[in-house]
Amino acid sequence: MSRYLIQRIEENPEIALHLRTEIVGLEGDTRLGRVTWQDKTSGETSVHDIRHVFIMAGASPRTEWLRGCIALDNKGSSSPDGTLDTLADAPAWTLARSPQMLETSRPGVFAVGDARSGNVKRVASAVGEGAIAVHLVHRASAEL
Ligand SMILES: Cc1cc2nc3c(=O)[nH]c(=O)nc-3n(C[C@H](O)[C@H](O)[C@H](O)COP(=O)(O)OP(=O)(O)OC[C@H]3O[C@@H](n4cnc5c(N)ncnc54)[C@H](O)[C@@H]3O)c2cc1C
Repeated sequence: MSRYLIQRIEENPEIALHLRTEIVGLEGDTRLGRVTWQDKTSGETSVHDIRHVFIMAGASPRTEWLRGCIALDNKGSSSPDGTLDTLADAPAWTLARSPQMLETSRPGVFAVGDARSGNVKRVASAVGEGAIAVHLVHRASAEL
């Protein structure tokens, strides 16, 4: 989550923050009615009448399976796995030609969206990069 959004939550007196707390149960009949959470420090579990839950998940790209295959970095990334290096950042580049925009250390393989090193974590940019990559894949195929 962006730092400015975290700050707005921290400063809002209407919001109660429960740090080191995990939701361990969701209950309801036809809709959500109760949420159980556990304070991970004390181990105490409590049930609350809550009808809405917003889950913020999926912020860290899972790229570990590419390690050893494509150069990954950890620069400016929220992912513990690192993101995919592109352009001249890629140390393992092997061809005489320069890598194209969005091309990884493996010729012909492109990285777009949240998995790309230096990404801006926005839907519009991920979609735009994807559209550009289609064009670049065709060009790389002709040059490989
Ligand atoms: C909580 C949250 C709120 C956000 N709010 C906004 C917002 O308001 N505005 C905004 O512009 N951006 C927002 N973002 C950022 C935005 O969602 C991302 O930047 C965008 O979705 C990145 O697109 P992507 O295609 O790179 O990745 P994703 O949208 O994450 O798509 C990757 C896809 O690949 C699939 N996948 C993963 N591994 C594999 C595999 N091995 N094999 C096959 N498929 C796989 C995943 O299941 C997923 O469907 C938000 C992100 C989060 C987490």
